[in-house]
Amino acid sequence: MNHSKSEALHEEALKHIVGGVNSPSRSYKAVGGGAPVAMDYGKGAYFYDIDGNRYIDYLAAYGPIVTGHGHPHIAKAIAHAAETGLLFGTPTKHEVKFAKMLKDVFPSMDKVRFNNSGTEAVMTTVRVARAYTGRTKIMKFEGCYHGHFDQVLVAAGSGPATLGSPDSAGVPESVAIEVITVPFNDENAFVAAMDKWDGQIAGILVEPIVGNFGIVEPKKGFLETVHRIAKEKGSLVIYDEVITAFRFHYGGAQTLLGLEPDLTALGKVIGGGLPIGAYGGKKEIMETVAPLGPAYQAGTMAGNPASMQAGIACLEVLAQDGVYEEMDRLGAILEKGLVEAAAKHNVPVTVNRLKGALAVYFVKEAGQVVENYKQAENTDGEKFGRFFKLMLSKGINLAPSKYEAWFLTTEHTEADVLETIAAADYA
Ligand code: PMP
Repeated sequence: MNHSKSEALHEEALKHIVGGVNSPSRSYKAVGGGAPVAMDYGKGAYFYDIDGNRYIDYLAAYGPIVTGHGHPHIAKAIAHAAETGLLFGTPTKHEVKFAKMLKDVFPSMDKVRFNNSGTEAVMTTVRVARAYTGRTKIMKFEGCYHGHFDQVLVAAGSGPATLGSPDSAGVPESVAIEVITVPFNDENAFVAAMDKWDGQIAGILVEPIVGNFGIVEPKKGFLETVHRIAKEKGSLVIYDEVITAFRFHYGGAQTLLGLEPDLTALGKVIGGGLPIGAYGGKKEIMETVAPLGPAYQAGTMAGNPASMQAGIACLEVLAQDGVYEEMDRLGAILEKGLVEAAAKHNVPVTVNRLKGALAVYFVKEAGQVVENYKQAENTDGEKFGRFFKLMLSKGINLAPSKYEAWFLTTEHTEADVLETIAAADYA
């Protein structure tokens, strides 16, 4: 497969864009280096690079793309927005309609506010939790990524998962010490930390189904304990559903698990491919936000008509019968095929799958489970790097990270999945 145009573009990009990429995860640093493949256009489950190669897309832009590329219903909504006004700086009917749609799906949300990214959404829930409780500390789980604002760049999966020390230069210690980190799925560690910082934790940030070190579901009873202790101690439970909302079914992890957080952050899928974030929660908590209350949050682009109309159109596609069942069916075929291909070649892998999303971990020992960050970290990045490049050479595009999820879309077909399994067998 020829990548000469991508390579030349990367050389040029390096001169103008730091690292040649606009988000570090797009670089191929974690898979042995090289020029990242640059895409030209996408249609359905495929995208095509600037050298003309076709790939089956499992990256899904790190989650947002759930209806494939160039979906006509979403394209029409975006064209309508472009023709009728992209930005007014005033209320519009679209944002009200979309807020109602989200509230219908999430009973935990009495009120919603839109913003522009997952980072912004989570950042605001943290501020609101602090304003509402009058406390400063937040708790998060090791390896969970919640965006790139200061408070959550602590044990965020990209650096040493140590308590209270920042993962990124530029994050002050004074911020990091306000963040308590415990391992996901470790009830004892969670309870001990809640006792230790009794009365100080404003909010507990949770990826209820983790999507940032593969796909990791909560162990039975774990989140129930989080909710129970949080209530006892007066801390808010904040679900970061930026990845999980509308990924596994028409709803969030919370509606799948039957749990109700105090605050929820959304992003990715709900923008239909355009930039978006949103957060919501119980009325008395949300009324802490300006102009009703003292917690400030704003945005020139917040609730912009294009993102609203694209998001509404995306949810309309996803609300159709059978959409998620088909992604689940294809996910099961893919999982089985990948596990069988690995077994055939004596490559130990662990596959975690929930419906149309899965993670393939190159574990060091057969049968190793992955239910927390340390276990995901303890997988073979070098082997994954070789697998990644071989899959790419066969037209299968994965995220260049050893524990990033693979995402199906409504546009993937059984033939695509079988082609993927054949590529994995080769790789
Ligand atoms: N929360 C979670 C769970 C995420 O996965 C991400 C992005 N990967 C974010 C927040 C940040 O979202 P954004 O990149 O849109 O700022």
